[in-house]
Amino acid sequence: MSFPHPIPYGRQQITAADIAAVTEALQADYLTQGPKVAEFEQKFAEYVGAQYAVAVSNGTAALHLCTLALHVQPGQRVITTPITFVASANCVRYCGGEVHFADIDPDTALIDLHAVRRLLETHPAGYFHGLIPVDFGGLAVDMEAARQLCDEFGLWLIEDSCHAPGGSFMDSAGREQRCGSGQFADLAIFSFHPVKHIATGEGGMITTNRADLYQALLLLRTHGISRDPDLLERHDGGWYMEMQELGYNYRMPDILCALGISQLTQAPAGLLRRRALAARYDAAFAGLPAVRPLAGAPGHAYHLYVVRVPDRKGLYDFLRSRQIFAQVHYIPVHTMPYYQNLGWKPGDFPQAEAYYAECLSLPLFPGLTDAEQDYVLASVREFVTGNLA
Ligand SMILES: *Cc1c(COP(=O)(O)O)cnc(C)c1O
Repeated sequence: MSFPHPIPYGRQQITAADIAAVTEALQADYLTQGPKVAEFEQKFAEYVGAQYAVAVSNGTAALHLCTLALHVQPGQRVITTPITFVASANCVRYCGGEVHFADIDPDTALIDLHAVRRLLETHPAGYFHGLIPVDFGGLAVDMEAARQLCDEFGLWLIEDSCHAPGGSFMDSAGREQRCGSGQFADLAIFSFHPVKHIATGEGGMITTNRADLYQALLLLRTHGISRDPDLLERHDGGWYMEMQELGYNYRMPDILCALGISQLTQAPAGLLRRRALAARYDAAFAGLPAVRPLAGAPGHAYHLYVVRVPDRKGLYDFLRSRQIFAQVHYIPVHTMPYYQNLGWKPGDFPQAEAYYAECLSLPLFPGLTDAEQDYVLASVREFVTGNLA
């Protein structure tokens, strides 16, 4: 059995409705800041259950605006996980802050909140300023517990929810809490990179329930320029606007917001398909002890389906020889040369490094067919049982 086409680990799904939405936006009056921006923001805020949403040029810009809005200063220390995309850490560096890491829970690969607590308890009060947990792979961090920890030690909280739009966890009262709802975190961020749940090419979103941060983000997204008559210091005339602080051009264009609105309508179905595919992987691997998937949970958004295998490189190369392009998420951030130059060393976060040695993300995206997944499964089984024999 083989496939005539390569199978990637993730892929966008662009429909005729998406193309029609973009075509319509191209024929409208505004290519950049038109009506689609506010419409996308409002619909996205509803989807994740947050009060405010701010569309930005990508997930990395979203993180940068968050650290700016929270006034991260040179030398301030912020904690994140070593198992994430580098942008989760880099946003602290953009403001001159110091990145610190807490090790992961080996069952989920999420930041271990007990490790965060130990870090906080072994340093003087005020030593750390913020925490950036990541809903890695689509599994929600217990943000209620993270909030309690942050309140106890005076930290702000940014949820990097790039992997988990539509995901949720159960709080201590048994209520479902959606990722990025702003119920616990000060700010949450999302990305619309093509492998993520909602694809616009480039694009990102920040959600929050804090009106003060929302206002700050709007200003920072557009050069620090305000046209709001209520906020201006002078009123020279109808043309008048003010640059009130140093901001950026991190806007998301109307064309891409139109695509985002259309993609968002398909997100619930895409999420169900991701969960169904994950359940098929789970069932197949239940009988294959050499393949150990990460722990699941209700509310998992399944951006990734990660397994751990003893011979990860072998399996990765074998799948590639079959045109199956599995991927590794992630190379621990603290082992990157840039962060090693800042003083971090291999061995600093043993759970993250042990996880990295064995992890592989198998193909998982809404357009993956059962037949394609069966081919992936047969290939994994062949490699793993051949290895054991
Ligand atoms: C994709 C991603 C980002 C960055 O998003 P971009 O839109 O690519 O800039 C940040 N954090 C995590 C966890 C991501 O997966």
